[in-house]
Amino acid sequence: SHQIQLLRRPSGLPAPDDFTLQAVALPEPQVGEVLVANQWLSVDPYMRGRMSEAKSYVPPFALNAPLEGGAIGTVLASRHPGFKVGDRVSSMLGWRDSFVAKGEQLTRLPATDLPPQLFLGALGMPGMTAWAGLHQVAKLQAGETLLVSAASGAVGTMAVQLAKRVGAKVIGSTGSADKVAYLKTLGADAVINYRETPDLDAELARLAPEGIQVYFENVGGAMLEAALNHMALHGRIVLCGLIEQYNSNGEASGPRNLAQVIRKRILIQGLLVSDHWQHYGAFLAEAIPAFEAGALQSEETVSQGLASMPQAFIGLFQGRNTGKMLVKLD
Ligand code: NDP
Repeated sequence: SHQIQLLRRPSGLPAPDDFTLQAVALPEPQVGEVLVANQWLSVDPYMRGRMSEAKSYVPPFALNAPLEGGAIGTVLASRHPGFKVGDRVSSMLGWRDSFVAKGEQLTRLPATDLPPQLFLGALGMPGMTAWAGLHQVAKLQAGETLLVSAASGAVGTMAVQLAKRVGAKVIGSTGSADKVAYLKTLGADAVINYRETPDLDAELARLAPEGIQVYFENVGGAMLEAALNHMALHGRIVLCGLIEQYNSNGEASGPRNLAQVIRKRILIQGLLVSDHWQHYGAFLAEAIPAFEAGALQSEETVSQGLASMPQAFIGLFQGRNTGKMLVKLD
């Protein structure tokens, strides 16, 4: 069995040699344990936070130990009554090709013919994040204008589509012409390519002349600053992610215009998807049939093989993915 370990804590953008691929011998499963071969590994921006020493809502990754993350695999051997050979399971035991764990660390995938890797993306934690942010936190209403940053990513593509289902006007922001075109196929009313837009303020003024009621924030920095200038009175901001600063070594990046929050009585609320798992069943009850009917769509960027995981992870911060970033194992 092989696993990826963190060799040292990255400074700034992680580098491939911050990681190492280790061969390990797996023990025989004991009573209550299951042997699983992973097929799909999730690649997520939040993992960057756990690579730093700083305390957060999840403890830092240990050095010289396997990294963790979402994964989907197949049971190869089971000494747990709840699992049998061939079961498809999800776990947090990613960054490795196989493992032995207690059955309690595994979740069986819901019964559906949809591709299993959807449960790492649109039907998994990122999709749930979009749903919770829009419905539980922002309570987005028909006719409202929503701005979504990192709109072409795993969370963003679901936020765009779920908002269109509510009947909102959706403006996305993303980093390439191809991604702009893709977001339009998902129903976005307008899309900003922030890399090619020298004056974000003027562009938001043009696209949202009546103001933005809800901003689903994944990025921070200049985008948040520009959005604050164009929020509507009593607008709501779901602070979901600030990826623009995940690789900064502590230097702050704004916004410098927080006075807008006072002037417009903006409500900013942080979102942590783990607070909302009691609604995961309600989310799936809407989203699984919608995918089966083709009313929701998902895109993925797949790299092949465990050894490609560090590069796939680094790629998140370079905008290499459209939709969910995944690693596929043989
Ligand atoms: P994505 O699939 O959106 O991948 C990250 C994307 O962010 C990239 O593709 C890139 O797209 C964009 N990006 C990267 N660096 C920058 C930058 N410096 N400036 C602007 N855009 C950048 O990842 P996820 O969907 O998994 O996550 C999206 C956000 O949601 C992240 O901030 C993440 O931390 C957050 N999150 C929060 C959760 C919570 O519970 N609070 C749960 C899950 C995710 P582009 O081409 O547009 O630049």
